[in-house]
Amino acid sequence: MTPSVLPQETFTTQTLHETALADARAANPFDPREIRLSAAGGCPRQQTLRILGAPQAPESVTQLSIFHAGHYWEDYLASLWEARYPGQVNRQVTVETQYGTGHIDLWVEPIHHLVECKTTKVARRAQLPLDEHLDQVNLYLHFWGNAHGATGEIAYLLKETGEILTFPVVYDPHRIPRLLERLDQILIAVQIDQQPLPIPEDAAPFQFPCGWMDAYGQFTKCPFWAHCWGEPTIPDDADETLIVDAPETWIDSLQTYATAVTAIKDTKQALKPYEQIKKDTEAALKDWFDAYPIAGLRIPDGTLRRTISKASDSWDVPQALADGAITPEQIAPYTTHQPGRVTWRWETPKPPKTSHKKSPTPQD
Ligand code: SF4
Repeated sequence: MTPSVLPQETFTTQTLHETALADARAANPFDPREIRLSAAGGCPRQQTLRILGAPQAPESVTQLSIFHAGHYWEDYLASLWEARYPGQVNRQVTVETQYGTGHIDLWVEPIHHLVECKTTKVARRAQLPLDEHLDQVNLYLHFWGNAHGATGEIAYLLKETGEILTFPVVYDPHRIPRLLERLDQILIAVQIDQQPLPIPEDAAPFQFPCGWMDAYGQFTKCPFWAHCWGEPTIPDDADETLIVDAPETWIDSLQTYATAVTAIKDTKQALKPYEQIKKDTEAALKDWFDAYPIAGLRIPDGTLRRTISKASDSWDVPQALADGAITPEQIAPYTTHQPGRVTWRWETPKPPKTSHKKSPTPQD
C-alpha cells in the first residue's frame, strides 16, 4: 500500500501512524455489502444497517488503532505456524455460503487446523472463549471445516500482558440452527424487504454492543447508534424514568467519583472556620482602610492588599425585553450564544420515610 502524500514538515511518528490507519481503512478489502459470518453472533440489525448503506459514525483513532493492532498480532500468530509449516499457512481463507461470507484467519494446511485470532483484555480472561467467537468458528466448521476434516481453535492475545491463550473448538451442531435462522433474517431484510431488522429486544443504549466504556474509560458507541437511539437531546432531568442503572463497567469509576465528592464536601466543611476568620478580619479592617488612603497592610509574613474595582452599571435585558423597551431584533447584533451550563450532582439514596400514621384499628 502506497502511503498518502503528507507535507514533510508534518511528519511525526503519530501523524505517520494516523495516516497509515486512514490508508488502511480506505483500502479495506472487505465488501461492506456482504453478510459476514464473523458477525453472525453479534447484533443482526447492525449487519443490515451496514449492508443497506446507512450512514455510520466514523471510527475514532483509538478504534482504528485497536483494529490495526489486531492485524499485527495476527501476523505474529501466523508467523508461529509459518515457522513450523513454511509456505503452508493460508491467511484469510474465504468461506462462501448462500448466507454470506466468512474469512478464516489462519488455515494450517498440513494438519487441517483453522485458527481464529482475537485480542482481548486481561479482565475478560475468565469469560473466554466468548460465545460470539464460538458461534463464528462453529459456522466456519459447519460450512467449510467439517468437509475438510478440520480441527479449530480460537487464540486470544491478552493485550496488557502479551499472553496467548488457546481454546480448542469442537463442532457443536446445536449452535447452528439459531445462527442460520438469524442469517436468514438478515438475508430477507437486505434482499427482499430492503429494511433494517428491528432493534433486538435485549439491546440497551448504554450496554454492549450499543454503547459501552472502553479500556481507556471512553464511552464507545456502535457506529449506527444514532439510527437506533436517536440524536443526543437534552433530557428532562426531573424525569425519574431517565435515571438508568449504571452499566457494570462504570461502577468503579462512579464509586471513585462518590469518594471524591465526599472528600470535597468534608474539605469544604473543614475550611469553614478559616473562611469565617477571613470574613471577620476583612469586616473589621474595612473602616480603617476606608478612613485612610492606603492600599495594603504589610507584616513580615506578607501583605494584605485591598482592591476596589470601578463602579459599573448593569442592565436587566430580560426585563427590558419583557417591558417592550427594546426588541430582540434590536439587540440581535449584540447577542452571543452560550451553550447550556452543565452541572453534576451526586445524590445518595434517601432513607425510607418512617410513617407516623396511626396503625389502623379494627374499628377504622
Ligand atoms: S446501536 Fe445497538 S441495536 Fe443498534 S445496530 Fe448498533 S448494536 Fe445493534
